[in-house]
Amino acid sequence: MSIFASVPKAPADPILGLVGRFKADTSEKKVNLSVGAYRTAEGKPWILPSVAEAEKLVVLDTTQDKEYQPIDGKPENKLPVQQLLFDQSVIDSGCIATAQALSGTGSLQVIAQFLKFMGVKKVWGPNPTWGNHPKIFARALLEYETYPYWHQESRGLDFAGMMAGIQKMQEGECILLHAVAHNPTGVDPTVAQWDEIVAACRERKLIPLLDNAYQGYASGDLAKDGYAQRLFTSSGLEFFIAQSFAKNFGLYGERIGYVHAKCATKEAAEVVLSQLKIIIRQAYSSPPKHGAAIVNKVLTTPELKDMWLKELTLMSNRISDMRVALRQAIEAKGTPGTWNHVTDQIGMFTFTGLSKEQVVRMVEEFHIYMTADGRISMAGLNPSNVQYVAECIDKAAR
Ligand code: PLP
Repeated sequence: MSIFASVPKAPADPILGLVGRFKADTSEKKVNLSVGAYRTAEGKPWILPSVAEAEKLVVLDTTQDKEYQPIDGKPENKLPVQQLLFDQSVIDSGCIATAQALSGTGSLQVIAQFLKFMGVKKVWGPNPTWGNHPKIFARALLEYETYPYWHQESRGLDFAGMMAGIQKMQEGECILLHAVAHNPTGVDPTVAQWDEIVAACRERKLIPLLDNAYQGYASGDLAKDGYAQRLFTSSGLEFFIAQSFAKNFGLYGERIGYVHAKCATKEAAEVVLSQLKIIIRQAYSSPPKHGAAIVNKVLTTPELKDMWLKELTLMSNRISDMRVALRQAIEAKGTPGTWNHVTDQIGMFTFTGLSKEQVVRMVEEFHIYMTADGRISMAGLNPSNVQYVAECIDKAAR
């Protein structure tokens, strides 16, 4: 009898489990629209040329060793990543506590533990949200509740519902917001709506947490996609950012990201950083070097940074082209329903509006892998499969 006899087998991760099923599927028609990773027009993973160049330079750099990094990452790596989010005067004020962490998920995990340590009781996240969010906060023993976000009829933002939801939040509670390219809906607040959200956060005395996993992916423009952060910063509010470089550098497996806490004073930032370091030390001691070195090399080498900015535009343009192609193909078939949301939504995902039963057909009958909530990753579409996907959406939607 095993000592593990009483341990129940856990279900496969809803997204990563689909990847396994996709790999095992022998159909020639199969299409993977489940995972949020960029694919080329040929359907292949892509190492960004700027990243490949930076990696060569990092490997050749004989001053690099394999010693541990500081608990919060190398101090000289912080400025270039802060500059993607904050104006120089804010950085110079010393009011930002920054620590390297394990991509977006690891950054959220550290922030969740820190919120618990601060005595925060509850986190409010959008409904729906990335499936891992509620679990990350539950794991830190925080209460988790949702506020309305998705409006099924318009397939857009339920702004009135969201604002009413914020009115229910209590002083000192945390509000989780997607900084840009909301996952899974692809629906973001407008500039004017962000103003109202910031004002409401201030009025309710909330602690905002911006999950920044797709900067540069929505519009191809870092500044445009960084709007929410700049607005929160200029509002004077204190808030957190979980910054991931998985998607915008294509460094998924390198696990590179940063935690930032924008504090009211330099002294507060020093105190916050000291406690973030305790959490990190106990969790995994210090962060990995390689991804951090690559990101730093790209951001601090002007030619590589230029290349990277062009690559971001290329990736976001390819996704926009696929949005247009998918919508046209569906509309050409006269598929029931409206399909403008396919081009209205932004970022990596489209929330198709297909029901659970329709999604089951897409997977089981048509070999098109997508999450049960009807989300598809636009990056998995390409000129060779978009017609087939449109045909199957048409069949499923009838
Ligand atoms: N936040 C959101 C909204 C995401 O969609 C993801 C990944 O899909 C992440 C965070 C975390 O990604 P990673 O841990 O790979 O940086």
